[in-house]
Amino acid sequence: MALSGVEIFKLLPKTNCKKCGHPTCLAFAMKLAQRQATLDACPDVSEEAKQVLGEASAPPIRPITLGSGDLAVKMGEETVLFRHEKKFVNPSAIAVAIKDTEADDAADAKIDAVNSSEIDRVGQKLRVDAIAIMNESGDASKLEALAQKVAQKAPNVAAIVCTENADAAEAALKNFSGKGALLYGVTDANAEAMVNVAKAHKASVGVKADGLDALSALTEKVKGLGIDDMVIDPQSKTAKDMIENNTLIRRAAIKKSFKPLGFPVINFATRDDSMLETLVASVGICKFASIIVINSVEKWKNLALFTLRQNIYTDPQVPMQVEQKIYEVGDVTADSPLLITTNFSLTYFIVSGEVENSRVPTHLAVMDCEGLSVLTAWAAGKFTAGKIAEFIKESGIADKVSHKELILPGYVAILSGAIEEKLEGWKITVGPREANALPAFLKSRAA
Ligand code: SF4
Repeated sequence: MALSGVEIFKLLPKTNCKKCGHPTCLAFAMKLAQRQATLDACPDVSEEAKQVLGEASAPPIRPITLGSGDLAVKMGEETVLFRHEKKFVNPSAIAVAIKDTEADDAADAKIDAVNSSEIDRVGQKLRVDAIAIMNESGDASKLEALAQKVAQKAPNVAAIVCTENADAAEAALKNFSGKGALLYGVTDANAEAMVNVAKAHKASVGVKADGLDALSALTEKVKGLGIDDMVIDPQSKTAKDMIENNTLIRRAAIKKSFKPLGFPVINFATRDDSMLETLVASVGICKFASIIVINSVEKWKNLALFTLRQNIYTDPQVPMQVEQKIYEVGDVTADSPLLITTNFSLTYFIVSGEVENSRVPTHLAVMDCEGLSVLTAWAAGKFTAGKIAEFIKESGIADKVSHKELILPGYVAILSGAIEEKLEGWKITVGPREANALPAFLKSRAA
């Protein structure tokens, strides 16, 4: 049961020391009650209070880890319904389904596609996270053969074993024992047998039931059988059902602290039509799915889903930014041109990518503007002539280049005169407005 702000306040030190970043203990208590702060921000809280408050401040959606090692995926730990309230914590895992009725070469192709799915986007590694091994045949030996293939060809990728047959589960899951696999397919009818298999192989379980009442009763039953690490499937058949059920589950867990539904959700977006599948999976990413299972891995689909997922799960209060410094793009020399831009990640990666495309080695001065893009930083007074001049002087780049020319983004051409006044002896050249014009610009200068 969640505690109110006043109940939490009674357990705090009441010294109003402000070490937690809040003006009073009461203000901090209110934030704790709204799950907009965590208890560890108060260094003076007593052990007794920690114990009592521990449950109240624990994330309402249980944290679960799928897989192990470098490719392990964290799920759950969400604390808000809407991203702008704080942030979404753990991005939806994308899993591709392989049926044990699929031809060998088709299964091999899917495994290869998962293994080579990783891309780098604005400094983050994005990939298909898991393989769902589906017991479509109902035959334990076929599921076992597929599990062996996956374990051998993709040993580091998280596995989801999907079956309602405990014998088939045992045959498949033993290939992923102790590797954080998920055994999906626990129902009211098979719960005891499936939980025993999952326990034997240190797997978490995926429970499914029609309707949220039945699902709540089943999670309580599985908990009673000794497994706390669960993901839940409300068996949504359509995208509309998915939005409705996932929202009701998230609301119950976060607003009502309803523990029986306080688990990450798994949705099957699998459709024969790849475009439709992408759209349904996108609905899951936007609306609270922790695992989304799809049928096929295709580069265009990956890019669409990865980009959407990255955008939804970026902390809206913390712009993505890169370190302020002079980056060397290519084999620079003292004669290489010097460009300046801001440290918004997207800006940096787009500009550095276009400079790479130009094949003209370039010094790229990236200035800390709190993660804002060029125009926004200029409008906010963070990318001004004075600050640019100061950064260039302090960076020491003048000692590394044989020229004194700084190329300015075209959008802030208005600053060129003022920078020349503040940076004595420097020539300011106005570059293109858009990064995609940089290759032609740099090549024409190098010619
Ligand atoms: Fe109160 Fe603890 Fe915050 Fe100090 S750090 S104001 S004692 S809640």
